[in-house]
Amino acid sequence: MRFWFLTGSQGLYGEDTLRQVAEQSQRIAETLGEGLPFELEWRPVLTDAAAIRRVCLEANADDECIGLIAWMHTFSPAKMWIAGLDALRKPLLHLHTQANVELPWSSIDMDFMNLNQAAHGDREFGYIQSRLGVPRKTVAGHVSDPAVVARIGTWARAAAGRAEVGSLRLARFGDNMRDVAVTEGDKVEAQLRFGVSVNTYGVNELVEAVDAASDADVSALVKEYDDLYRMAPELRVGGDRHESLRYAARIELGLRHFLEGGDFKAFTTNFEDLGGLRQLPGLAVQRLMADGYGFGGEGDWKTSVLLRTLKVMSTGLPGGTSFMEDYTYHLTPGEEVILGAHMLEVCPTIASDTPSCEIHPLGIGGREDPVRLVFDAEPGSAVVVGLSDMGDRFRLVANEIDVVAPPEPLPALPVARAVWRPRPDLRTSAESWITAGAPHHTVLSSAVGAEELTDFADMLGVELLVIDEATTPRQFAKELRWNQAYYRLAQGF
Ligand code: MN
Repeated sequence: MRFWFLTGSQGLYGEDTLRQVAEQSQRIAETLGEGLPFELEWRPVLTDAAAIRRVCLEANADDECIGLIAWMHTFSPAKMWIAGLDALRKPLLHLHTQANVELPWSSIDMDFMNLNQAAHGDREFGYIQSRLGVPRKTVAGHVSDPAVVARIGTWARAAAGRAEVGSLRLARFGDNMRDVAVTEGDKVEAQLRFGVSVNTYGVNELVEAVDAASDADVSALVKEYDDLYRMAPELRVGGDRHESLRYAARIELGLRHFLEGGDFKAFTTNFEDLGGLRQLPGLAVQRLMADGYGFGGEGDWKTSVLLRTLKVMSTGLPGGTSFMEDYTYHLTPGEEVILGAHMLEVCPTIASDTPSCEIHPLGIGGREDPVRLVFDAEPGSAVVVGLSDMGDRFRLVANEIDVVAPPEPLPALPVARAVWRPRPDLRTSAESWITAGAPHHTVLSSAVGAEELTDFADMLGVELLVIDEATTPRQFAKELRWNQAYYRLAQGF
C-alpha cells in the first residue's frame, strides 16, 4: 500500500523553472514521506490536462495506490484538472504548502514570486475541487511542522482503512440473533458503499474444520496459551478441565483454517446457531481479534466490518482495538461510568495486564462451559464507534471516552471488561447516542480517534456523528435533523 504525491504546475514557466519545481516538490515529498506510516511515491510534475487525467486513471487502476496527495507548487490552471478529478476514485488529500518556510525579505524578486505561488495556486485548485464536489481533506502548513505531517498521517490511516474495507471478505457463521433489529442491515448496499462482501456459511462447515485439527497442533497451541496467559490451574495439563482448553484450541485452529482458506479477514458467530460446536467460541475469537480479524457477536457483521477496518487503520500504533458492548452503568452522581464487556469476546489488545485464561459456565447458548481470557482494559483516552443501517443510509456514531481503572476489583465477573467515562458526561453521551439510533455493539479503540474516523467517513460519503467534550444534547439534536436532510439530498435520486 502506498500513496502518490502529485505536483501541479503548467508549461508556461519554461524548463528551468519546472526543473526547480520538480526538485523542490521531491524534497517536500521526501520530508513528508519520512513522517508517514506508508510509502509515498513522488510522481513527475503535471503540466497539462492529458497527463493529469492519465495519472488519475492510473491511480484508479493500481491496487497498491490507496490515495493521492496533491500540491500546486506554482499556478496550475484548474480547468486542466477537471477530467482527471472527475474520473478519480481514490481518496485525495490537498496539501497546501510551499517550498520555503521563511520569505527571503531582502532578496525577494519576481522570479521568486513566480516560483513560489502556491498561496494562490492552491486556491485555484480548491475552487475546482469544490466546484466538482470532490471529497478531500485539505491540510495547510509546512511539511517541516510535525503537526502537519501528523494530520496527513491520520488521513493516510483512514485511506488504508478505506482500501481494506473496499476488498474485505467477511464470513458469517449463522445468521443474526433472532428478533434483534440493530445488528441487521442491507448487505448489498454495504458492498456498494463500502466494498465489503458479506456471506453466510453453515456453522457445520466450521465444525468440520474444528474436528479436522490435529492433536499435535492442539498440543502446540495449548503450550502457547500456557506461555502467554495466566492459566487457571483446572485448565492446565492434568487439571480437571484441561480437555475443555484443548477443545477451545481446536476451535481456534479450525476457525483460522477456515478464515485463511477463504481469505476472510472478518467473521461473526451466533450463540443461537452453534451446530456441532461444543463451546461458544470465546478464547479463539479473542485471539483472532488480537491478530487483526474483525468480529461481531450475534451475527453482527457491521460491527465486525468496522473492527477490521479500525484494526488496519491502527497498524503500528500503540493502544488496542476491540469488539465492545455497553453493558451496565454505575450511576452514582459525579462518578458515572459505563461497564462495557461481552459474553466472552473482548480483544486482549486493550488489556492492562497479562490476561487470565479461565473457564466458567455461560447461561446462554446451552453448550459446554467456554474458555475465555479475563482482564481489565488499560486506562486512557479512547473512542467507541458504532454503525447503524438507517434504511436509506449507513450512520456512524463515535463517542470520545476515557477508559478508567475499575473503582473496585471485580473478582466475581468472569469476562474481560472496560470501564469508561464517556465525554462530555454519561447523560449527554447516552442521550445523544440513543437519539441517533446508534447500536449497543461497538468498536472500542485506544489506537485511533475521531479524526481518523472523520476522514474515513468523508472518503466514503457516510454520515458520522461525533459525541465529544463539546457536545450538547440541543446542538446534537439539530445536527441529526440537518443531517437527515443533507444525506438525503446528497444521495440524489
Ligand atoms: Mn451482544
